[in-house]
Amino acid sequence: MPLVGTKEMFKKAYEGQYAIGAFNVNNMEIVQGITEAAGALKSPLILQCSAGARKYAKHEYLVHLVQAALEINDIPIALHLDHGADFETCKSCIDGGFTSVMIDGSHFPFKENIELTKKVVEYAHEHGVLVEGELGQLAGIEDDVNVSAENASYTQPEEVEEFVEKTGVDSLAIAIGTSHGALKFKPEQCTRNADGVLVPPELRFDILAEIEKKIPQFPIVLHGASSVIPKYVKIINANGGNLADAVGIPEDQLRKAAKSAVCKINIDSDLRLAMTAGIREHFNAHPEHFDPRQYITDGRAYIKELVEHKIKNVLGSDGRADEIMAIIKK
Ligand SMILES: [Zn+2]
Repeated sequence: MPLVGTKEMFKKAYEGQYAIGAFNVNNMEIVQGITEAAGALKSPLILQCSAGARKYAKHEYLVHLVQAALEINDIPIALHLDHGADFETCKSCIDGGFTSVMIDGSHFPFKENIELTKKVVEYAHEHGVLVEGELGQLAGIEDDVNVSAENASYTQPEEVEEFVEKTGVDSLAIAIGTSHGALKFKPEQCTRNADGVLVPPELRFDILAEIEKKIPQFPIVLHGASSVIPKYVKIINANGGNLADAVGIPEDQLRKAAKSAVCKINIDSDLRLAMTAGIREHFNAHPEHFDPRQYITDGRAYIKELVEHKIKNVLGSDGRADEIMAIIKK
């Protein structure tokens, strides 16, 4: 199975009221943990690399790791650039084997965002690659992206139609209250549930509904959509870590989003937390170990557990690989 694009995935996800998980990858064990989970559950998958991942692992390693995963797991996988900052970065991924790229012009004024996105779309489409654009700005920190809460802004529904039409993008990332990183909200912005877990303000489903009305059938993307699963935060803190007040997006809200026009849900922080929890727990239990295979195995096992949980309980994409492969092969 070669790498696939996201067009067929999004079409089926829209119709079937589920979402495709877009998981960030940086190394072999993260790729393995994610693809073993998706392979076992027959789920389609987007693996995405940020500029930071390409700097850390090198583009060629990432492409070949994902190619290896495709040889082992019989599921459709798209390879996507997360947060392309400029035309050149997008071009190098388009030329270098990716099947989808994001151009993030969201910090530019509306007209400049359109111009930049259009330029990337023209080049990408000539090469059979799909493009995700962004309108509105998320708060938080993720690799090279750092937006303060004051500069964050919701997507304006009245802008989406013009943006999609003028740029020709294939999917649109929107800001409706999600946020990058593991510390998504300040405690004072949140309430606490019965278990004492911080719960952030609800996502702006009203804005999402307005956007859906303006651009019906168009695939929407949610960034910053980790739920910061308390289990992994607890393991990290119980084993020498110090993650105070980590807050994520409640999974019932993400599940609700997955049933709407949201076809792609980005997950990065949860992977980092799962890997770190496994390694910290291992070191604490086995201070005598020094073979990286021993402790990274535990990190990888938690990645697999986490991704299985997301596919079944948040994305709803389990068992959907075949319906996508069927339309791709036509
Ligand atoms: Zn993002």
